[in-house]
Amino acid sequence: MKLKRALSILLVSIMMFTFFVPSALASEVVLSDSTLPEIKEGCNRYFFLANDSWFNEYTNTIGIYWWEGTDACEEWPGYIANKADAENVYYYDVPVDVRDIIWNNYLIGISDIYSYEMRTGMMGVVGDFDGKIAVARTEWIDNFDQYWPPCDWYYYYGNGCYGDVKNGDYTDCLCKEHEHYLVSDIDNDGVVTILDATFIQRFLALIDIFSDDQKVKSDVDNDGEVTITDATTIQLKLAKL
Ligand SMILES: [Zn+2]
Repeated sequence: MKLKRALSILLVSIMMFTFFVPSALASEVVLSDSTLPEIKEGCNRYFFLANDSWFNEYTNTIGIYWWEGTDACEEWPGYIANKADAENVYYYDVPVDVRDIIWNNYLIGISDIYSYEMRTGMMGVVGDFDGKIAVARTEWIDNFDQYWPPCDWYYYYGNGCYGDVKNGDYTDCLCKEHEHYLVSDIDNDGVVTILDATFIQRFLALIDIFSDDQKVKSDVDNDGEVTITDATTIQLKLAKL
């Protein structure tokens, strides 16, 4: 009985306490807001994440090509894509009646094009593709079965983050290189483990006292507060990994 009561008091404390993250410190982990211009009228916005293999001494940009529909390109490699809000992320506002696009590395004017050219296959964009990002696979190896690097489509959240969840944010980000989860390394041991989630619970239950830095790191979902949701987010993240 005593244990049960103690537990329920603990639970209530966890649920009631919310700790605001010191704002000066919070800004260190807040991702900058995306500042892309409004989408052109009558267009969908498609993003593309290239990787370093797409750039070489003859090109440092990405192009987009389509051959049917409004503003169809007159010649290859089409239009120069716009740089988005993160490294290697490009976008283009494409008229809604365009059914297929090809991303490429905008190579023009060299004869030995095949050694340097990168492009996707024909990508159908009929359906729910507005705001999505095509991520070129890095593990792609040149062979005859697969001449063009395959891409995977994800929802784009801005700042280079993308994932399977519609309207997600960086807590849903699937980019392996981002390692957002290190934000939640609260005990500073270089890895995120279930202990970090436990630390947050202990802090919320007033068992442990946190430094400002730990409070910032504990704000896993980046909402300016340390709450039980942050501990849960770590647990979910670990379950996914
Ligand atoms: Zn990310």
